[in-house]
Amino acid sequence: MLGSLSLALAAKGGAAVPAGRLSFSGSLKQGSLVVGHASPGAQVSVNGAPVLVSKAGVFAFGFEYNQVKPSIVEARFADDARETRELTPLPRKYEIQRISGLPEQQAHPTEPAIVARIARENQLIVDARKRDTPGEAFAQGFDWPVPGIVSGLFGSQRILNGVASTPHFGVDIAAPEGTPIHAPADGTVTLAEPDFYLTGGTTVLDHGHGVFTLYIHQSALKVAVGQTVKRAEVIGLVGKKGRATGPHLHWALNWFQVKLDPSLSTRTAAPPKA
Ligand SMILES: [Zn+2]
Repeated sequence: MLGSLSLALAAKGGAAVPAGRLSFSGSLKQGSLVVGHASPGAQVSVNGAPVLVSKAGVFAFGFEYNQVKPSIVEARFADDARETRELTPLPRKYEIQRISGLPEQQAHPTEPAIVARIARENQLIVDARKRDTPGEAFAQGFDWPVPGIVSGLFGSQRILNGVASTPHFGVDIAAPEGTPIHAPADGTVTLAEPDFYLTGGTTVLDHGHGVFTLYIHQSALKVAVGQTVKRAEVIGLVGKKGRATGPHLHWALNWFQVKLDPSLSTRTAAPPKA
């Protein structure tokens, strides 16, 4: 526990934390993307599963939003030396957010055709987050994809039309309809769908090493699947399609299927003002 606490405190200043030949940067809280650094040529596993390590020694993993157990990182270096680290995320408290006035078939869909469509579309989003590719732009931190006001936080317990729902696994940024959305880092488009039932215009970007970002409720898409994008390039426009009470961008971050808080990996604490 002390080990992870001092790691997190040191990481707050933005510097990587040296310790042996493995180090970690990031806020190291529940829901954080963790950027690992190992000496080049190392093989690394997280909780027993091998992860991709770049030529420079960069790798990634994430802490679940409610994780209390440590993540176990094991490295085997080019000279056969080994190092094991246990990282326990700092605990967080999440807020409760009530949203009312949603159409009932959006808040709590029951019609079989709608339920089936949502399941099919969710599976496409899951599938878009399975690749494990090179690219380490995520290690430099993300830019906020749109200017505006943060109107919904990651991890909030959602009460939709008075009924407890799943937590909110993204950050909402309120911005006028049509505001351009910019890629927060270099990436490749793995999903670009103009009209999903709950999520409207939906895009997934692959930033490498299992790090993916998601953009939903868009009114228009500006990229196609397979396209590579550069940091700051326009990928779509803010909208209110799907389950949304007003125009905003719901921005999400994943390490494969682990849901992470993008606001813990941005270069600045808040988005630029509109
Ligand atoms: Zn949202």
